Amino acid sequence: MSQPKRPGFPAWIASSAAPKPAAGARTPVAAGTAQRPAMAPVGWGLDSVAVRMRMVQRLAASGIQSQAVLSAMGGVERHLFVDSALVNQAYEDTSLPIGLQQTISKPSVVARMIELLEGAECARAPGGLGRVLEIGTGCGYQAAVLGRVAREVYSIERLRGLHEKARNNLRPLRLRNVHLLFGDGMQGYAQGAPYAGIIAAAGGDAVPQAWLDQLAVGGRLVAPMVRNAGQQVLLVIDKTLHGFTESVLEAVHFVPLKSGIA
Ligand code: SAH
Repeated sequence: MSQPKRPGFPAWIASSAAPKPAAGARTPVAAGTAQRPAMAPVGWGLDSVAVRMRMVQRLAASGIQSQAVLSAMGGVERHLFVDSALVNQAYEDTSLPIGLQQTISKPSVVARMIELLEGAECARAPGGLGRVLEIGTGCGYQAAVLGRVAREVYSIERLRGLHEKARNNLRPLRLRNVHLLFGDGMQGYAQGAPYAGIIAAAGGDAVPQAWLDQLAVGGRLVAPMVRNAGQQVLLVIDKTLHGFTESVLEAVHFVPLKSGIA
């Protein structure tokens, strides 16, 4: 399927949040091996811009205010991250299966969580959101969106099959500031710490100590967590000079956070 080069979504042009290559970042591997939706409707490449803009309008109408987040959501082609049979649903506000019993998160949840991350105290410094750790790469969609908002992204996945799928999906995008790791994200990734933001795409029962340790002072953690009566809620934890502050937000539905690799 041909993907004509088109200008980005208008909000993107003025954005100061374009990814900056990290010093010493790995050179991206040559493009061309990504799995593209083989059965995408004819003209989808062109149509997807309009469909994506409508998705962004819906996100804005639902309360997402960050221009950086809206332009990143407008800039990443979600249909390239889902199986060909699901391409027509790629811009609906729904989670979709990505294999190995995992799902790509809903666009509204991705946007909401990244906007929360941008609220980190240290994201107010010049340069905006610095280094971010994502737990649960899945198909790599959220990592790609994060790559347009944060200076550097480390994304870790415990299932080798999905880690490889994400690699294939991201390779043609050449996001030099997005680093994919295979491992148990419950340990975090100490080599990249401290993080301005940590974002989890899988929900556990307790916040792993490693995440709290690896957060920068002024940094923010956004994660689904099981709380009272087995209800999963969105948790925001800020690390300050004087300790941690925690906010419990709306109910959410994420796949479980599991330990170990497979
Ligand atoms: N952000 C992803 C959503 C993936 S779903 C996307 O855009 O597609 C959540 C992912 O978290 C699953 O792939 C699951 O395997 C992974 N996961 C669960 N526990 C994990 C852990 N301890 N470390 C790393 N990844 C984990």
